[in-house]
Amino acid sequence: MTAGVEVSDREIADAVAAVEGEMLELLCRLVEAPTTLGNEEPGQELIRDAFRDLLGLEPADVPLDAELLRSHPQASPFSWDVSGKANVVADWPAAGSGGRSLVLNGHIDVVGPASEKLWRTPPFRAVRDEDWLYGRGSGDMKAGLAAIVGAVLGLRRLGLAPLARVQLQSVVEEECTGNGALQCVLSGLRADAAVIPEPYPGLIPTAQVGVLWFHVDIAGSPAHVAEAQEGVNAIEAASAIVSELHRLEEELNERAPPPFDGVDHPINFNLGVISGGDWPSTVAAECSLSCRIALYPGTPVSEMKDRVEGAVAKAASSSPYLVEHPPTVRYDGFACGGTHLAEDEPIVQALYSAWEAISGTPAATAPTTATTDVRAFIGAGIPAACIGPHAEHIHGVDERVFVPSVVQTAQVLALLVRDWCGLAG
Ligand SMILES: [Zn+2]
Repeated sequence: MTAGVEVSDREIADAVAAVEGEMLELLCRLVEAPTTLGNEEPGQELIRDAFRDLLGLEPADVPLDAELLRSHPQASPFSWDVSGKANVVADWPAAGSGGRSLVLNGHIDVVGPASEKLWRTPPFRAVRDEDWLYGRGSGDMKAGLAAIVGAVLGLRRLGLAPLARVQLQSVVEEECTGNGALQCVLSGLRADAAVIPEPYPGLIPTAQVGVLWFHVDIAGSPAHVAEAQEGVNAIEAASAIVSELHRLEEELNERAPPPFDGVDHPINFNLGVISGGDWPSTVAAECSLSCRIALYPGTPVSEMKDRVEGAVAKAASSSPYLVEHPPTVRYDGFACGGTHLAEDEPIVQALYSAWEAISGTPAATAPTTATTDVRAFIGAGIPAACIGPHAEHIHGVDERVFVPSVVQTAQVLALLVRDWCGLAG
């Protein structure tokens, strides 16, 4: 066993603070790459360059394997082409032995701007306003990716290396399937823990909900609006279905199991996209809904599918036409269970202590009503947790990240590498 070197909190914090310029330049370039679903590659190219040129590590691609994913029970279904799509990873090899290995993971993909015209600055322009950096993905989670690079860069500038392997990962499809992180795990990844610097400042989400995406296709019976009673309007039928899905949501919220019983409205149903109809004077023949609902850890995805299909069938049961022509429910995108990680897991304790050493305030744990890629690691027996920068309006308009918290996150990750992996000089 190689003996580790002693490096103080202060030396590490200072070394990371000294690379703030490189970190922020990378963050701005990442924000300006509009890495929405299907457009991740320009962002991944920036990550390959950062791993190679800034960190001196050798980047490697982990391509999405459609066939493997489609046959895996933990994967989410997807109708789109994933050929050519890849996660980018880089190993920081062990410089000794006796440490614990670590994955530092972030996702490169971002959601769309929601409504470009509502933004005060263009969503894919990185705009600095005092201590805030605006732009889609600035907080969720390109700041986290930049912090991972900053943490490693700071340690390397001190001439340090970990006693066990640290693998850096920039994955795709966190916002739609979770299949990017899952692909890393399916490629044989082994590690003693994983940390994802999603924007959870000092708040470690030890329990998270699962998420199910579903799409409801409703076929009506078209007619001229003058004889509207002859037809069945698919859009109006959709509104009854949405009401029934909200009833399901309320029912799930009334029976929240621990630790979600202390959370206000843990299960959120969202009708995110609606399309239908083709003419103001024609009774709408078709309507499709794209929806998201959360599920508690321990609820199988199959059970939530049954509940959703039951709610849709119930709403349709009042229309003889819809009973004969039932709406169909399709699954495309997230189909993931929730996760739970014990608070006394060593990685959670290590994050507590690194956070407190840097911020001067204790970290806390809380359940989250969102989902993250920790599920892929936890599902493979690798304890995984999030901690990260302070961001606002993620998935909304004027998303922004508090710049000092990006540096702070990098400092926390660097201390974590010291405490978890051990360091050799
Ligand atoms: Zn995220």
